[in-house]
This record gives sequence, structure tokens and C-alpha cells, in this order.
Amino acid sequence: MSSIIQLLPDHVANQIAAGEVVQRPASVVKELIENAVDAGATEIKLIVKDAGKTLIQVIDNGKGMTVADARLCFERHATSKIRHAEDLFSLHTKGFRGEALASIAAIAHVELKTKQDQEELGTHIVIEGSKFVSQEVAVLPKGTSFSVKNLFFNIPARRNFLKSDTVEFRHVIDEFERVALAHANIHFVLFHNGSEMFNLPASNFRQRIVNVFGGKTNEKLVPVKESTEIVEIQGFVGKPEFAKKSRGEQFFFVNDRFIKSPYLHHAVMAAYEGLLKDGCQPSYFLYLDLPPHTIDINIHPTKTEIKFDDEQALYAILRSSIKHSLGQFNVVPALDFER
Ligand code: ADP
Ligand code: MG
Repeated sequence: MSSIIQLLPDHVANQIAAGEVVQRPASVVKELIENAVDAGATEIKLIVKDAGKTLIQVIDNGKGMTVADARLCFERHATSKIRHAEDLFSLHTKGFRGEALASIAAIAHVELKTKQDQEELGTHIVIEGSKFVSQEVAVLPKGTSFSVKNLFFNIPARRNFLKSDTVEFRHVIDEFERVALAHANIHFVLFHNGSEMFNLPASNFRQRIVNVFGGKTNEKLVPVKESTEIVEIQGFVGKPEFAKKSRGEQFFFVNDRFIKSPYLHHAVMAAYEGLLKDGCQPSYFLYLDLPPHTIDINIHPTKTEIKFDDEQALYAILRSSIKHSLGQFNVVPALDFER
């Protein structure tokens, strides 16, 4: 009897994978901006129309791609970022799965323009639903531009499932802010429907937080700093009196990557013990650096969850360093009073 099992054609496999990687326009924004960061860009511009439903464009001044790589980047599991399984334990890039562009190109109309600094001419590629439409030589500035149009054009169910522009754009802003907060040294710009929403010049963490959330944020921040063998912590926590009933701005970054961690959140809340009014939540912006081999970021395709080798030690260090910072800050008004 002949076998009934067949390998799926690439474009079908890509479309299935896309379901995991790309939930909504904001997922595309995240993947494209992270690629621009990985390419060493010092300036990244995001242009969005209709909350990303019509257009998502990311323009960077990073290292660009060769003619051959510009085509290869749309293949599944095509990545320049890792070569061997061991490399997963020493990651210094946002990407490594080589899945994003293949997935995005399977479910949208994508245009890529890219040029490396030393080249005279660049490459312009159009790919729609995994099919190459054209590839041409083009006069371009250094760097890369990806335009993603008509997301989910070939998956009507997904397209219909998208929320209102207001809701989808909120998700876009969330992803934009997360990368922008993690990389204060990169200049980020965001345009929506022709208006400039953010223009964040290259700066430091504190200045970036203030530029994103407004001038009043500055006085609310208490610096946190701790250096141990397990983790280096820097960043800011909100003064307790500014805690809000709703969840404030709460951000963890691990090795420059935004992550979600109920466990670490608990450690922060434990540090505020006795300082918050009932049901109030503090803001925090905490940047953790850990040796790459002590974390595993490969447990989820969007990489917002991480496994830590020594979770309990991390919890204890985080809690005590925040407690210490809040304590120091509490001393200040008392001193002022005595004078
Ligand atoms: P990954 O980021 O996991 O490697 P992607 O599908 O996101 O996978 O990208 C595939 C490859 O395309 C990257 O490894 C990189 O070599 C190249 N690439 C993608 N975006 C850019 C960019 N903005 N500038 C330069 N190279 C890029
Ligand atoms: Mg990527």
C-alpha cells in the first residue's frame, strides 16, 4: 500500500506557522522593529496606516542585506543569527528562529528595499502570499525598509477577527514602546495615518521613559541599581504615593528584551509591602541583565516568557534591591524636615 502521509508544501507550512507568529498588526511591528535593532540600526522609523491593517512600514539605517540574502530572508528557518544549537545558549540578538519574515510574507503583500553601505545599488523585492512577484536592482539609501500591506489578505477569518483601529493601534503602540524602552540609545519615530505620534531621540533609560510617558514621570521615579553574579539590575520604580488603582506602567526587560513574569512582578510587589494603599499598583521599569546561558527564551514563539535557572535567587535579589531603593528614598523627606 502506498503511504498517505505527505510533506506540506512550503507556502502551506508558512501559512500555518504564521498563525502562531502573527496574531495581529502589532505582531508584525514587533518582528520588523526587532530585526532593525538586530541589524544595528541607530534610527528606526515606523509608519502605520489604519492601525497597521493597511500598511506597516519599518525603515532602518542598519547593515542591510546582500542581493542573495534579500531573497533568502523569506525562507523558513533562514537566519543569520544562529548556526548551531549551542548558539541558543549565548544569544545576543532579538531574533533567532528565522520564522518571522517567512510567516509575514505568507499572509501579506511585502515589499523589501535594502542596501548595504559599501554597495552602489540595492535590491527591491516584492513577495505576496509566499510568491516572489519581482526582484529588481534599485537606487537606495543604506539600510532596510520592509512594507507590509493587506495583512491576512488570504485568511479572511483572521482579517475579520481584527478589532477596531483604536484597539489594534493600542497594541501597535505597546510593541513600539517595549522595544523603544529597551533600546534607549536608538532614535525611534512613529507615524500613524500621516501624523507623528512619537519622536524619541537617542538618550538614556531615564530620558527615554520620560519621553515616552511624559514630563511628569520624571519626579515619580526612584532609581534601582544592583550588581551580583546572578544578575545586574538597573532601572526605576515608582514612588509609592503615585501608585494607581489600575495597573501602572510595568515593564521588565531581560537582556534588552521585554518580558512578562508574574513571578518577578510578585517580587516587586513584595518589596512595596506596607507602602501601598489597598489595591494600588506601582509603576516600574526594570532592566535585568543575566548571563545568556542562565536563561531560556525559547519557550514561546513571541519570546515574551523566559525561564530562569535560579528563579528564587533572582526573586530575592530583586525584592531586596527595590526595598533598599524605596527605603533610601523614604529617608529624604525626613532629612528635609529636620533642616
Ligand atoms: P530571525 O530574526 O529570527 O533571524 P527573520 O525571519 O526575522 O528571522 O529574519 C531573517 C533574516 O533576515 C535575519 O536573520 C537577517 O539576516 C535578515 N534581516 C531581517 N530583517 C533585516 C533588517 N532590517 N536588516 C538586515 N537584515 C535583516
Ligand atoms: Mg526576526
